[in-house]
Amino acid sequence: MKPLDKKDLIILSELLNDGRKSYSDLAEKIKLSVPATKSRVEKLIENGIINFFTVNLDHSLLTEGRPSLIAIRTPSKSIQNLSEELYTNKLVQRVFLTGGRYNLLLITHYITDAQKSKLISNIQSLEEVEDIETTILYDEMPEKRDLLILEPKSIKLICDYCKREFADTIFTKVIGNKKRYFCCNTCLSVFEKRFGMVD
Ligand SMILES: [Zn+2]
Repeated sequence: MKPLDKKDLIILSELLNDGRKSYSDLAEKIKLSVPATKSRVEKLIENGIINFFTVNLDHSLLTEGRPSLIAIRTPSKSIQNLSEELYTNKLVQRVFLTGGRYNLLLITHYITDAQKSKLISNIQSLEEVEDIETTILYDEMPEKRDLLILEPKSIKLICDYCKREFADTIFTKVIGNKKRYFCCNTCLSVFEKRFGMVD
């Protein structure tokens, strides 16, 4: 895959701030024609760098139930397997790695009480799960719909190997089922070699 350049980073940063920005706005920012901008965005989608466009919706108007937060404690060696397993359940929206008493935090989609009970007993039945605690989310206090992304951080991508911030170009490759990002081909090949050894 062709490495990302500054113009791609500007597109990503603009879309992070406003996912519905028009092609002509984007084109103006990166000083390219609208068709050229469109094909860059399409390439970013094709490469999986842009996964989806977010739309702010009031879910409570569309669906029954409420999201739940479920904190899970599992041995550290099981974290990877367990989170993959949790994602196979369609009620699960996101899983976070956390510190403290619990090491995984799961947030569900909007689900009903019945779905929630079923999900909880499902999770409890998994042998890697040592303890689980659940909380229902009622409302956001105060309500804040927009995702605020602070400008420099939104494009602060770091190399998966040397952890340095990217300059102009980014090299990507799928290694171990995950898309990885590197600052140069050397980091990419060293990472790939080491990854092969631990696997
Ligand atoms: Zn690097």
